[in-house]
Amino acid sequence: MTPTRRRILKATALAPAAAAAATSKSSNLTATSPSSLYASLGVKPVINGVGVVTVLGGSIMPPEVVQAMEEASRYFIPLPELEKKVGARIAELLKAPAAMVTCGAASAISVGTAACFSQGDPVKLRRLPGREGIRYEVIQQKTHHSGYEHQMECVGAKIITVETRQELEAAINDRTGMLFFLNKAENHGQVKAEDFIKIGKARGIPTMNDCASDAVPMDRLFKYTAMGFDLVIFSGGKALRGPQASGILMGRKDLIEASYPAMSPFGGIGRGMKVGKEELCGLLAAVERYLKVDHAAEWKLLESRVSSIRSALKGVKGVQTERHIPEIANELPHVTIEWDEAAKSITAQQVAEKLQAGDPPIHIHKPGKGKLLISVWMMRGEEHVIVGKRLKEILG
Ligand SMILES: *Cc1c(COP(=O)(O)O)cnc(C)c1O
Repeated sequence: MTPTRRRILKATALAPAAAAAATSKSSNLTATSPSSLYASLGVKPVINGVGVVTVLGGSIMPPEVVQAMEEASRYFIPLPELEKKVGARIAELLKAPAAMVTCGAASAISVGTAACFSQGDPVKLRRLPGREGIRYEVIQQKTHHSGYEHQMECVGAKIITVETRQELEAAINDRTGMLFFLNKAENHGQVKAEDFIKIGKARGIPTMNDCASDAVPMDRLFKYTAMGFDLVIFSGGKALRGPQASGILMGRKDLIEASYPAMSPFGGIGRGMKVGKEELCGLLAAVERYLKVDHAAEWKLLESRVSSIRSALKGVKGVQTERHIPEIANELPHVTIEWDEAAKSITAQQVAEKLQAGDPPIHIHKPGKGKLLISVWMMRGEEHVIVGKRLKEILG
């Protein structure tokens, strides 16, 4: 072995440990920790009181995930082979018939729709978004409008909206290619998941369930494929804390097989939806971690942050706080804060602006007049204490 080669091997062997040390330190960083990288770009880190949302950077990858991405980044591998192997591992872990990694839940909607429309026929796949000979209609309930319809339309879908079970059954015809279900709207639509699946199976139309934000509690990762949805989608960069540009599409074997050629690296409709070796290995590490992590301990931590913010506001005149757990999506402890805008002469909009103008900036939800919703999920270190203090200053 040449000295140069030996040196390279030695450096490579050391890298994972160094990376782990570096990332475990970085996972403890907060919005107040200095970042020369973001400073050089003139972008100020914020306290995230909104939750796992793409506009604030989603989630923070744990050290295991960063380390897997770092190691993956140092080799060349045949990518289609890695896609299949990682997909198979994720399917095994989540007890799904088959799975694949996409570049986000939104991308999974497009890729899965393309698979339902092409059904493994390469000629039909090449034709998309063209509709000739394609069953291009997608039926969804009005209350299941997700804002991600464009992700189906860009592969050629025409969205058909229905409200009742009768309307759903009557809307199915020989142009129907897929039935779309928005998981978090389960309690709002007239047709519930079980019946939706039954109708799809009886009429031979694949059903897709978008569960992007619904991986809490953890059993939801297994629930919907077991129920019988043909395709089930989760974000990789939300509760799972995988890479931001990752998602899971899982379900029926033939449909997942048909999904691979609809995505990068293969040319065609999904070529722009690239998943790199780093995201593939990062998401797998994230799923493995998520299945082992102590969810009860994390829940307790969130409860303590909720209590801390509520105590900070105790005694502030005219301000009520509540512990709030949203249904289905992001089902974790949050804080709601309410007051009479006229009585306190300050609007929710003004409070939000003051929070954002401070240092560090704090981002929260404004669900309505005199109302704030705070997610403590993505806060780190003692950030919740800063949030409580600043709210007290502004509302006090
Ligand atoms: C977040 C979300 C998406 C998009 O997920 P990405 O992983 O960011 O692409 C799609 N559908 C729903 C319901 C979501 O909440």
